[in-house]
Amino acid sequence: MTVSSPGSPGAGVLEAERKSADSAPRGTLGGERKHAAEQIALALFIGVPFLALVAAVPVAWGWGLSWRDVVLAVVMYAITGHGITIGFHRYFTHGSFKAKRPVRIALAIAGNMAVQGPLVRWVADHRKHHKFSDKEGDPHSPWRYGTGVGALSKGLWWAHMGWLFDVEQTSQEKYAPDLLKDRDMIRVSRQFPLWVAVSLAAPALVGGLWAWSWQGAVTAFFWAGLVRVAVLHHVTWSINSICHAAGERPFKSRDRSGNVWWLAIPSMGESWHNLHHADQTSARHGVLRGQLDSSARTIRWMEKLGWVWDVRWPDRERVAARRAA
Ligand SMILES: [Zn+2]
Ligand SMILES: [Zn+2]
Repeated sequence: MTVSSPGSPGAGVLEAERKSADSAPRGTLGGERKHAAEQIALALFIGVPFLALVAAVPVAWGWGLSWRDVVLAVVMYAITGHGITIGFHRYFTHGSFKAKRPVRIALAIAGNMAVQGPLVRWVADHRKHHKFSDKEGDPHSPWRYGTGVGALSKGLWWAHMGWLFDVEQTSQEKYAPDLLKDRDMIRVSRQFPLWVAVSLAAPALVGGLWAWSWQGAVTAFFWAGLVRVAVLHHVTWSINSICHAAGERPFKSRDRSGNVWWLAIPSMGESWHNLHHADQTSARHGVLRGQLDSSARTIRWMEKLGWVWDVRWPDRERVAARRAA
C-alpha cells in the first residue's frame, strides 16, 4: 500500500485477503498487483493516443480532416463516453437505475471500449474514491501531497494520470463483489483487450468502407480511433483532477469536489461533480437550471423505451436538502 490510514487493516490481513483472492474468480486478466508488462501496456495505451493528439494539428493541416472522420469520431466518442458515464459510473458503480440484461451487457462493452481499464477494475477504483474522497485511501485525490502550490501541482498530476501507474490495485473482492457474482460481467471485464481492439478497428472499417479507400480507413483510425481515445481519456481524468481542485460547491459534500461548467458537454454531465459527491446515486448530476447532462438525458430515453427502470431521479426536496448553507 502506498497510502495507509490508521484504520486500514494490517499487512497480515492484507496478505490473507490476497491469498483468498487467488482462488476467487477475478474480473480482470491481471492480479491484485500490476506486472511490468501491464505497466508497459498501460503506458502505450495512454501514450500512443496522446501522441496522436499532439500530432493531430499538423496532420490536419497536411491531409485535411474530412467530415466523415469528424462524424465517426463524434459517434465513437458518444458511444464509449456514455459507456463510461452511464454504464461504468452511474449504473455499475452507483446503481442509479436497473437495466435489462442485454442493456447491462451493452453498457459493460461500451465502457470497456473507452480504453479506461476493464469494468471490474474501474468500478472498484471508483467506489474506493467515494469511500475515502480526498482523504487517505482515495486512489486519486489531487490533495494527496498537501495544499501548497507545489504540492497541489504534483497532486493534480497524480490525480489526472499518475495514480494509474500505482502497482497496488484496489481489491476487486472488497469493492466489486456484486460484479464478481455475475458470470456475464466477469466475462466482459476479462474480454477488455478484445473490446479495445474492436474500439480501434471499428472506425477504421467503417471509414474505409464509407470512403471506399485505404486512406479513408487510415484517417478514420487516426481521428475516430486514437485521437478520440486520447480526448476522452483526458476529459475523464479531468473529473478526478480539475473537478476535485476547482469549481463551485453549491452542495454539501465531505470532500473538495466542485462543479466545473466548461467541462459539462465533453464530460457528458459528469463535471457537475459536487452534486455527484453530495448525492452519489442520483441518475442526474446536472440538477440545477441550465446544467447540461447528456448522460441523464440518455438515461431518460432508455427509461421511456423500457430498457431501464427504477431510475433514481432527483426531486426538488432531495436537491434542496443537499444545498450548502
Ligand atoms: Zn461516482
Ligand atoms: Zn470525485
